[in-house]
Amino acid sequence: MAYDTCTMSGLIDLHTHSDRSDGVLAPGALAARAAGRGVTLLALTDHDTVDGCAEAQAACAGLGIRFVPGIEISTRWRGQAIHVVGLGVDATAAGITMQIDDVAQRRRDRVLAIGERLARRGRIPGRDIATRALEVGGVPTRMHLARTLVAMGFADDTQHAFDRWLNRDRPGHVPVEWPELDTALPRLVESCRATVLAHPHRYRLSGGALRQLVTDFAAGGGSGLEVSMAGMSPNDHDRIASLARRHALAGSAGSDFHDPAVPWNPLGRFAKLPDGIAPVAERITD
Ligand code: AMP
Ligand code: MN
Ligand code: MN
Ligand code: MN
Repeated sequence: MAYDTCTMSGLIDLHTHSDRSDGVLAPGALAARAAGRGVTLLALTDHDTVDGCAEAQAACAGLGIRFVPGIEISTRWRGQAIHVVGLGVDATAAGITMQIDDVAQRRRDRVLAIGERLARRGRIPGRDIATRALEVGGVPTRMHLARTLVAMGFADDTQHAFDRWLNRDRPGHVPVEWPELDTALPRLVESCRATVLAHPHRYRLSGGALRQLVTDFAAGGGSGLEVSMAGMSPNDHDRIASLARRHALAGSAGSDFHDPAVPWNPLGRFAKLPDGIAPVAERITD
C-alpha cells in the first residue's frame, strides 16, 4: 500500500486531537509535530470543541502550513455512538454552538456519574477520580478518567483502564445519550464547509446497518466518509471506498492522532484515496 496521501504537494491529515479534548499535545505542539512530519494541510478535530483551533491556526501560519478548523461531534444513531467530523467550521454559527453546549453538560454529568458508579460498584475512590479528571480541563472524555485511573494505580495503562473499569459490563460503565444524528447533523451541515462520517469501519454494525447509516448520513446532507485512516485494513479501506462511491460521497483521510506515545497512528500516514473518489480536501481549501 502506498503511504502518501496527497492531492497537493505534501501530506494531509484531517482528523487529529489536542489536549483541548482527549489528545496529549497542546494545539501549537500538534501543529509543529505535523509540520515536522511533512503535513502541509492539517485539521484539528477535537471532540465536541473548537477551543484549540485559534492556537493551532496561529501555529500553522508560523510554520507555513495550511490549517482547517474542525471538530468531531458525538451523536447517536440507533442507540449507538456515531462520530461526525466537521471541517471548515464557523465557530460563531448557531448550529455548532448549540451542539457544543448540549454535549458539554452531558459530558460533565457523565464523568460525575461514572465516578459515583466506580465508588459504589468498583469500591475505589470514584468521586476523587472524577474530580481529578475534570480538573485537567478541556472537554472531559472517558480518556481523562482512564488516565486518572492509571495515575492513581488502578490500571496499568489506558487500555487496561477501559477494559477493567469503563467499558460495557464493567463497574464504571455509564451509557450516554448524545444528541440524535438527525438533530446533530443539520447543526453541523449549516456550520461547516464539509461534514464527514468518522471512522465508519469501526462501528459495531452489520453490513446492512452500516449501509443504512451511510444512506441516512447522505440524505441529511453529509458530504463524505473517512476512507483512508491509519491502522485501517485493506479490506476495510475497500469496503468504505465502495460505500463512498455508491452514495457519491467524497473521501476524507486522517490519522485520529491523540498521543505521540501511540505508535500505530502517526500524523499524515495512511493509504492514498482510491480512484473515483473526490477528495474532501478540495472542498475545504480555496
Ligand atoms: P468518550 O468520552 O466516550 O467520547 O470517549 C473518549 C475517548 O476515549 C474516545 O474518543 C477514544 O479516544 C477513547 N476510547 C473510547 N473507548 C475506548 C476503548 N475501549 N479503549 C481505548 N480507548 C477508548
Ligand atoms: Mn478520542
Ligand atoms: Mn471518534
Ligand atoms: Mn477522533
